[in-house]
Amino acid sequence: MLPGLFACHPVPQTMPKFHARLLSFALLTAAAPVTIAAAEPTAVETAVDAVMPQVVAWRRDFHQHPELSNREFRTSKLVAEELRKLGLDVKTGVAHTGVVAVLKGGKPGPTIALRADMDGLPVTEQVDVPFKSLATAEYRGEKVGVMHACGHDGHTAMMLGTAKVLAGMRKELPGTVMFIFQPAEEGAPEGERGGASLMLEQGLFAQTKPEAVFGLHLWSSLNAGKVGYRSGPLMAASDRFRIVVHGRQTHGARPWGGVDPIVTASQIVLGLQTIVARQVDITQYPAIVSVGAIKGGIRYNIIPDSVELVGTFRTFDPKVRAAIVERIERIATETASAAGATADVEFGTDPNPVVLNEAALTTRAVASLERVAGKDNVVVIPYVTGSEDFAFFSQALPSFYYFVGSTPPGQDPVTAPSNHSPHYFVDEASLPVGVKTMVAAALDYLQGK
Ligand SMILES: [Zn+2]
Ligand SMILES: [Zn+2]
Repeated sequence: MLPGLFACHPVPQTMPKFHARLLSFALLTAAAPVTIAAAEPTAVETAVDAVMPQVVAWRRDFHQHPELSNREFRTSKLVAEELRKLGLDVKTGVAHTGVVAVLKGGKPGPTIALRADMDGLPVTEQVDVPFKSLATAEYRGEKVGVMHACGHDGHTAMMLGTAKVLAGMRKELPGTVMFIFQPAEEGAPEGERGGASLMLEQGLFAQTKPEAVFGLHLWSSLNAGKVGYRSGPLMAASDRFRIVVHGRQTHGARPWGGVDPIVTASQIVLGLQTIVARQVDITQYPAIVSVGAIKGGIRYNIIPDSVELVGTFRTFDPKVRAAIVERIERIATETASAAGATADVEFGTDPNPVVLNEAALTTRAVASLERVAGKDNVVVIPYVTGSEDFAFFSQALPSFYYFVGSTPPGQDPVTAPSNHSPHYFVDEASLPVGVKTMVAAALDYLQGK
């Protein structure tokens, strides 16, 4: 199925379609003389079209050579080389393998930042494309397949394309663009730091503080051609918790001789489910509390000494987050206390904050997206309960983050393999949409639109 679909959407075929759609949209909405002018590709569209074959080639190359978080050695080397060819001021080795390049325009204007992430995942690719990944690596002591199962190959390639288009108009560019190629979005390996938070700690914005930062993500939940966003909180803050219930070990036939941490842990799991259902106002923002693992005991007739629970919770508002922290602690410790047990509760030390689309910036950026992707193709999407470490940039600066549909048209995005699946497939028709929207958002901002 996939090779066939792939064959149906080679990039050269998608460009005329793009202009044809612009033409039909313009015919419907404007008077005749204006229509013809509007239907002709602008200089920017022509520049984007010219760079697309190279974007596709870059993306296929990255796809075939994915690297795990904090190990993006080949990718970042290639990225830095391409950026140097464009005459940009390039800095490497930022937060391990990150690359930051600055393009100074020939005219005065604001500074903005554009961000792409570069890492792959420990997933063995099951998609049958000519540039399928056969890469392997060691992950948590095991040999694993490595795949760009989240589309970061596309992000890196699209950002290089965006840099090339903007560098091509450097003289006319009113302002400065910082290109951030970020490592380890998927999380640094155990015992390491990495990603957006480390880049910021290392002083990414210390010398030049951009006015705004933009980012995008290829996304299975929308068809190629579509773009999704929402104003305000977009992606959840992601927190981890760990609860250890301490009872007292005894024989399974004599439970009264000890304190059973298994029954207590079970009560805690059910109690945690009442947080979202009964204790938090979810009318404005949704929230999620999930237990992902329960570990305790070794044998059918021994009640163990302790049980460990680990889980995650997702929120879109700092007050809801604080309320959930308090309730997890209370439910765990007081449920344990009622059983004569005790509970230790810990929270992860490096939670991802919320990806927040600043309202005024969103309004401006959406106008740019609608102009180049077509008004009907830009849609407001529901809250996304997944998280993204772009959130750290989002906390540091006004930001705008959006999703670029990657599922082939005609395939149902609800059932299409999602990001992180070994079957995740990016329709390359999504790539020009990503470059056009990013270039338009950046240019419009610099021009004060
Ligand atoms: Zn991912
Ligand atoms: Zn991702």
